[in-house]
Amino acid sequence: MTAFAQNRPRSSARGLRVFVLVVCLVILGLEGWRYWHDRGHEFTRIQAETLNLAKSLTQHAQDTFELADALLVDVVDRVETGGTLPDAITRLDVFLVERVQPLQRIKALTIFDQDGTLLSSSLPGHRGRVNIGALALFQHHKNTTSGDWFVGPLIRDPLGGDWILTISRRFNKPDGSFGGVIQASIPPRYFGNFFGRFDVGSQGTITLLHQNGTILSRYPYIERAIGSNVLNDPQFRNAKGSGNYDYTSPVDGLVRIGGYQRNHIFPVGVIASVGRDEALARWNEEFVFRSSIIGLLVLTIGSLGWILAGALRRREYAEAELAVLATTDGLTGLANRRSFDRELEVEWLRAARQKTPVSLLLIDVDQFKAYNDIYGHQAGDECLRIIAKTISEAARRPGDLAARYGGEELAILLPGADEADAANIAEDLRAKVEALRVRHEANPPSCILTISIGSASRIPSLDRSRIGPDHLITLADAALYRAKQSGRNCVASAKAA
Ligand code: GH3
Ligand code: MG
Ligand code: MG
Repeated sequence: MTAFAQNRPRSSARGLRVFVLVVCLVILGLEGWRYWHDRGHEFTRIQAETLNLAKSLTQHAQDTFELADALLVDVVDRVETGGTLPDAITRLDVFLVERVQPLQRIKALTIFDQDGTLLSSSLPGHRGRVNIGALALFQHHKNTTSGDWFVGPLIRDPLGGDWILTISRRFNKPDGSFGGVIQASIPPRYFGNFFGRFDVGSQGTITLLHQNGTILSRYPYIERAIGSNVLNDPQFRNAKGSGNYDYTSPVDGLVRIGGYQRNHIFPVGVIASVGRDEALARWNEEFVFRSSIIGLLVLTIGSLGWILAGALRRREYAEAELAVLATTDGLTGLANRRSFDRELEVEWLRAARQKTPVSLLLIDVDQFKAYNDIYGHQAGDECLRIIAKTISEAARRPGDLAARYGGEELAILLPGADEADAANIAEDLRAKVEALRVRHEANPPSCILTISIGSASRIPSLDRSRIGPDHLITLADAALYRAKQSGRNCVASAKAA
């Protein structure tokens, strides 16, 4: 063991740094987790909103078709009771105009005869000039005896050329045979305009689809999109009756969050969607604001923690240095007298408990006063340092302690060493100093630097009324005196008690 163990500062500073780092990471981690959690939450909320919108707009589409169908039922009743003779047709012309005029969502009501030729319409001027015999809706009614409504595919209006959605019913002649078709037409633009009343942002779209995938109408209304088919879109194929409809637009590449609702009566459905980035923009702004504040907080905590840890570290080092200074001798680096006394007390009690010996060597440089006189005080100091180094190398076992006892007197405490051990160590030490062969003219007969050692060993007793640690010093001192008397450069041991 070296003369005196250096006290390394316990690193509370590092602990504080780790703590600050962990706190910062925890805050950032929690914020990150909250971001994903909240974002998912916001996403779900937007999905629910678009689905609700799709549901109400599908209901609106259903209402529109039901309204048109109610008109058809009324007209079928009129035609079947009034017939299609010229007089009746004239009355029907007026009736159809009266029924359609107040209704914005119905473009026209038209009656076709059994061959598909126009008999009467709320739009005047087409009688006899238009024939829909080849259209699917006409063929449907002609070939089925059912009097139910039929929502046909999107067609170009035979009376105009614009796109129209049609709902139609057949009427029968008095004998029950096929008499013709009555058709109500709805302009897709009507739905487009109606959808436009709802706020889906600048990137949102609302689309009315036929169940066969045809786009019937949409907001924003783009003419060329009407009539195109999305049946091949896997997203549409997988869409059940109702649900989320998130997709990346093949047109503008925007990611959209949406909801899809299919109508359970009519073969139509509505997809309402908003642009994901636009919908999350406000939330993102809040997040950036909140994150900046949290980032600033983390930065402040981190910097303060770091500065504090630095100050703590400097303080710990200063304290450790003070502790070393308080227990170490400045010249030799050995333990000072105070810590020697404390250690002697501790080891004495330990040895008393364990019933083991404690040995003490008191070392005094021979003719040192003369050395100082001849070679100077500084050379004397250097000598003391060299001897101290040699001594500290001799005190190697755990518990051994080399100390500067005072002036040019040094001491080694050897717990566990008995008289023989101590004598051996002392002799070894004496020989080592002699082997240094430091010149000392005034130290005859060798004229080199030598030391004298007084050694004392005892097994202490817990009974303080008997001998204490001071006694060991007295014994070693007496032995040292004897060594001096015996001519110096030798070891003298105190007699066993
Ligand atoms: P002896 O052989 O009988 O021990 O003779 P001595 O001259 O060594 O006598 P003593 O031990 O009484 O001498 C003590 C001297 O040690 C006095 C002083 O000059 C010197 N001394 C004590 N402390 C220091 C120190 O810190 N540095 C130096 N250079 N000399 C010291
Ligand atoms: Mg002395
Ligand atoms: Mg001396």
